[in-house]
Amino acid sequence: MKKDKRLDAVRLRSRHIVGPIIGNIIVVLTVAALLVTAILAIFGYICYFKTDVAVDNFENVIRVYETDGPSILSGWGIDSYIEDADGNVIFSSGTDTSDHGNPVTLMLIDEFVKHSDGKQYTAYPDSEGTLIRLMPSGYILFDFSEIIGIDDPDSISNDRGELLMPFWLSRKLDDGSVFYMKSNLGITMTDIVLLTAVTGISGFIILFASIIIHAGFISKIIRENKLVKLLFEDPVSHNHNWLWFLSKGKKLLKKRSNADVKFAVVSLTFVRYRNFVLCHSLEEGEIMLGKVYDQIATHLSRNEIVSHSTSSNFPMLMEYSEREALQKRLEDIICELEGIDQDHKFSFQAGVSFISDHFARNKDSDLDEEYNNASAARMTLSQKNDESGIAFFDSELVEHQKWIDKVNELQQKAVDNEEFQVYYQPKYDPRTDELRGAEALIRWQSPELGFVPPGQFIDIFENNGFITEIDHYMLEHVSRDQKKWLDEGLDLVPISVNVSRAHFVEIDLAEQIRDIVAGAGCPFKYIEIELTESAFFDDKKALTRTISKLQEYGFTVSMDDFGSGYSSLNSLKDLPLNVLKLDAGFFRDSSEDDRAKIVVSEAIKLAKHLHMKTVAEGVELKDQVDFLADEGCDMIQGYYYAKPMPGQDFEERMRSSSDSGEAADTETDKE
Ligand code: C2E
Ligand code: MG
Ligand code: MG
Repeated sequence: MKKDKRLDAVRLRSRHIVGPIIGNIIVVLTVAALLVTAILAIFGYICYFKTDVAVDNFENVIRVYETDGPSILSGWGIDSYIEDADGNVIFSSGTDTSDHGNPVTLMLIDEFVKHSDGKQYTAYPDSEGTLIRLMPSGYILFDFSEIIGIDDPDSISNDRGELLMPFWLSRKLDDGSVFYMKSNLGITMTDIVLLTAVTGISGFIILFASIIIHAGFISKIIRENKLVKLLFEDPVSHNHNWLWFLSKGKKLLKKRSNADVKFAVVSLTFVRYRNFVLCHSLEEGEIMLGKVYDQIATHLSRNEIVSHSTSSNFPMLMEYSEREALQKRLEDIICELEGIDQDHKFSFQAGVSFISDHFARNKDSDLDEEYNNASAARMTLSQKNDESGIAFFDSELVEHQKWIDKVNELQQKAVDNEEFQVYYQPKYDPRTDELRGAEALIRWQSPELGFVPPGQFIDIFENNGFITEIDHYMLEHVSRDQKKWLDEGLDLVPISVNVSRAHFVEIDLAEQIRDIVAGAGCPFKYIEIELTESAFFDDKKALTRTISKLQEYGFTVSMDDFGSGYSSLNSLKDLPLNVLKLDAGFFRDSSEDDRAKIVVSEAIKLAKHLHMKTVAEGVELKDQVDFLADEGCDMIQGYYYAKPMPGQDFEERMRSSSDSGEAADTETDKE
């Protein structure tokens, strides 16, 4: 949760450049429009003052008319006329005497109506003139057709080089008549230069500022995008990384929180990727990771994501409606990935954690934690084997994990307090029913956990490495028991002790075993070492060396669970073993299975040819005992004769071994 908040604080994401550029252009255009308005306003004020001059001039002409009469106006050639109160023209002068615009189109200008001297003036366009708003307070008249058309240059410019814009002014005289006079608004060269300069300089400033702002803005976006890329890009596969997954996944969950879909976090891993790198190269490995990433991505919908995190892990967020459908999709993805390279058959394992609760999604569900759960589910697969598979995180898994933690916590104390007990399961000769040997099997009598059978903790010890300590413990206790029984004058039989595959990495294993047994004072011939079939797939040379050394010291060595896993016929060829223990699976529910009988029979023959003794495990029925006796099986270890029992009970068995052969139903195992 905290990490999510930190991600929020960073708020980094790749930004698009086009949007901001368009935004900037809009800003620049708006500023330019404001500038044009300002320039027009300046122009308006210039016109305003010039119109004021025209009004003064008009007033002078009226004054002359009123004092000297109309004749003087005729001499001046001013375009003007006077209408009486009824609208009849009573005087006109100049060439243009009534060419002002249609009265309907005339516009009143406040400024003219209320001139400073209190007199009322009215302005009109010269012909079909246009009124444009140049000043906030009112209108100024322009006949654009004349300015723009310039069909009569004389009418629009005078000898002072002014651009003349004609318009009409009128004022009511005291006698009720109305005086009309054509005036001109002259725009001088200075006005134009001033305006051009203001426009040019402002335009340049806007352009310059816009370039600076644009450049700064764009380079900032580019820099940010680079940073985002660095943060969110996986340097190995050049795809999205874990941080991106957290950030994007959280947003997706929020966005789709009300949609009727459920999400699952998937932890998918490329099994034995390191091996691939070892056999090839890091570069080839990274290329392969990129391929895997791309392949996964082709299977995902728009609202699903994949990223590459540490080593060979691919966190994914997927939508689902039914668990089975999601499983099928993942199986398809894995199936395709297995064959991603023609020359190899890879394995992929996936763990799945469901985020089905809408409420949880709305409340910032913690992707980190969900991924951890998915990975925990995935790891249950890798603990068993390297094959492809899918595991789901559920309450059972949590319980199992808690159990593992508990065992881890208590294991050392259990050894120190001698909570582990040795149980013995006798082995009998099926032809004579005589006691021929026994296997030592561990039991845990825990004050906290109660009675715990080995199936519940041996795997855990094999995974956490504690198994080596346990095997030493068992070997030592069995050796001590044997020594004690020897001293008591009992007729000893060899007792086999299981030695885990995890031990065989130790080159001095044979010496360790020798020293422990010798330390207890037990003759080596009374101890047999059992290796599980799976151990034979490890370093065969080291294994052969250890077996040979053990035999040199006087121990017998057996292969446990023969036939339970992959065929180890090849191992039989290479390894100098003394005893072959046929797996209980042959006798489980197949007493009538002819094929199983054939296999068992042939396995016994094979062992005989290789000068090995045979022990059949898990035999519960008399028919099976008879069959094995006929086939020449040397020993039987099964419930038919006896279940595993505490040392004391086994001691009694030894004492009364002369009575062996009876089906033993003395159940002493507390399982
Ligand atoms: P394993 O070494 O193959 O031992 C034989 C298992 O078969 C024992 O289970 C035994 O109780 C069971 N069994 C024997 N006869 C019958 C039968 O007729 N019917 C049935 N249903 N079961 C029968 P257990 O004692 O539960 O041990 C399970 C496995 O745990 C052992 O298989 C061995 O792999 C491992 N284990 C037990 N003790 C030790 C130990 O001290 N060290 C190591 N490394 N592994 C041990
Ligand atoms: Mg065994
Ligand atoms: Mg076995």
